[in-house]
Amino acid sequence: MLPSLFLSHGSPMLALEDIPARAFLRELGPAMEAAYRRPSAILIASAHWETEHAAVNAVAWNDTIHDFHGFPPALYQLRYPAPGSIELADRVEGLLGAAGLAHARDSARGLDHGAWVPLLMAWPAADIPVVALSVQSHLDAAHHIRVGEALAALREEGVLVIGSGAMTHDLRRFRGSDPNGPEQPDVAAFNGWMTQALTEGRRDDLIHYRERAPYAVAQHPTEEHMLPLFVALGAGGQHAKHLHASVRYGFLRMDAWSFG
Ligand code: ZN
Repeated sequence: MLPSLFLSHGSPMLALEDIPARAFLRELGPAMEAAYRRPSAILIASAHWETEHAAVNAVAWNDTIHDFHGFPPALYQLRYPAPGSIELADRVEGLLGAAGLAHARDSARGLDHGAWVPLLMAWPAADIPVVALSVQSHLDAAHHIRVGEALAALREEGVLVIGSGAMTHDLRRFRGSDPNGPEQPDVAAFNGWMTQALTEGRRDDLIHYRERAPYAVAQHPTEEHMLPLFVALGAGGQHAKHLHASVRYGFLRMDAWSFG
């Protein structure tokens, strides 16, 4: 059975920069297929799609959304034309409904950069059907764990469930920061606490990470980039595995985890 994944997508420049997180993602697709199986489809929860209720996109073909500004033209040339899956969108809505969770669908939306940038690295052929899932940034970690738990059955059906966000994400620190600069102490303290809590499966602490983890609010002034982690955690259950660890700009953790 496939594990679920949490991927930190960092800056959209991940698609172009030769950095360790990109090298990790390029190995991820082949490594997953060698260790488990080729996913029949991918369901990816992105920090960049925020809706009132958990929503899926239900399209035959995914458009590539370039939802960023001021980056090099080459980034706007990239496309990830993966097929969608109405069937999987129906299944996700059915599972959410069965769990008593409100749900919605969008019959036009494509893939934002939180979804397509890591997928372009890991499965560049774009030949696996992809369905996007939104986050509810007005709701908490516990809600997103429930969403993930409702979708855990998909793993038995060969669907790869991914949460795409960032382990740390205080973008106010971008200005003047060195891409290869040393990790800032509060970033290290937060990531160290999260690493330990995930490894030890301390779910109650994780649900209350905002109160209990050091500098949590500083790393996530808004929660949307942390919430996909909880979707992955809910879908995968226990047995967290730290797949990748690196940092950019001294404040942007690029860590990746698997669950289950
Ligand atoms: Zn992002």
